[in-house]
Amino acid sequence: MNAPASPAPARPMARGRMFFANPGPTNIPDSVLLATARASIDFNDPAFLAVYDSCVAGLKKVLKTTQHLFMYTASGHGAWEASLVNTLSPGDLVLIPETGYFSDSWAKMCGALGFEVRMVPADWRRGCEIAAIEAALAEDMAAPAGPRIKAVCCVHNETAAATRLPIEQVRAAMDRRAHPALLMADTISSLGCYDFRMDEWRVDVCVGGSQKGLMLPTGFSFTGASEKALAAHRASTHPRHYFDWTEMLARRHKSFVGTVPVTLFYGLAEALRLMLEEEGLDNVFARHARLARAVRACVQHWSGNNGPQLFCQNPERYSDSVTAVWMPEGHDAEAVRRIALERFNVSTGGGLGKLAGKVFRIGHLGDLNEPMVLGTLGAIEMALGLAGVPHAKGGVQAAMESLSAG
Ligand SMILES: *Cc1c(COP(=O)(O)O)cnc(C)c1O
Repeated sequence: MNAPASPAPARPMARGRMFFANPGPTNIPDSVLLATARASIDFNDPAFLAVYDSCVAGLKKVLKTTQHLFMYTASGHGAWEASLVNTLSPGDLVLIPETGYFSDSWAKMCGALGFEVRMVPADWRRGCEIAAIEAALAEDMAAPAGPRIKAVCCVHNETAAATRLPIEQVRAAMDRRAHPALLMADTISSLGCYDFRMDEWRVDVCVGGSQKGLMLPTGFSFTGASEKALAAHRASTHPRHYFDWTEMLARRHKSFVGTVPVTLFYGLAEALRLMLEEEGLDNVFARHARLARAVRACVQHWSGNNGPQLFCQNPERYSDSVTAVWMPEGHDAEAVRRIALERFNVSTGGGLGKLAGKVFRIGHLGDLNEPMVLGTLGAIEMALGLAGVPHAKGGVQAAMESLSAG
């Protein structure tokens, strides 16, 4: 019989939820999804303004700041751009500690926007040395014409390498050298996952986005700005309009040049309620730390028999929101990801930039619990076996023991 050809489904009909272990976007809690299922409302309607104002207050609590917050209808890249063009002027020099794909992307953006970039080179598997950052600052302070570096742009959680850069130590290095630059931090994949303290660490500009630790759909991002950043803004001559903070400050919402993404704020109000009231921020951080330890215990177990390893080789820099897994020589990370997805309905993150095919990434941030992590690890362990990747069996057992220990 000649049946008409129909396209084969990408994977068999899968029941149950896809286990989503990407490091962004992340799982969205059901109550947040439901909260966003609302009819449109005028963004100047008092009923909406009450929700909006409570979201601004809640988001400042998550950033641990009492200073300024500017929000944009854009993904994290938009908030990066907004932060740069509002505080710097063409030709300004920025210092960027190398951490991985995201520090390099931010540097690329700086170059495209007309800033001069100086990188602090680093091994992606170990993270940027604070001493190297401090040496670059010291050299700049000693320049005969005075310091030129206007901003130090750090990625708090380097999502591509799964490493953490301790921002408080960067602040301490700047203080030791009495360097006057602005301290900027990309907290896109750490905020709501592990501790970040904008005011205490005297971060001048910090960038966050909706679709990672905040457990929301993609679509809005924001900048926390210190008084010092605002002063820099007043002196900045960079052209801008959509992202202009002065334009924003003249508006009722003190943010958004253009339409406010109203439904996302209904979701944000619920996400903030979950984080700040129902679970509590410290418990959110403790949960991420616990799940991250279990994932690392699993990968460290797999590394026996010349198996895959933790990409990060510096335990002080382990990320609590994502783990990157370094494949043994001659094995393709994409093959493992494909089997995990097509056979077991588990979605993981791929390697970015020069790590493509060499690592896969397990996102463990946002709306996630122990059985979800175990299910993900179990699927990956099966995929390693099916892809013929050498590894020590029993990684999931190691994760179970880690979780049982608390
Ligand atoms: C996801 C991410 C970005 C980019 O954000 P988009 O929302 O995709 O534009 C930037 N920095 C880090 C550290 C990220 O994890």
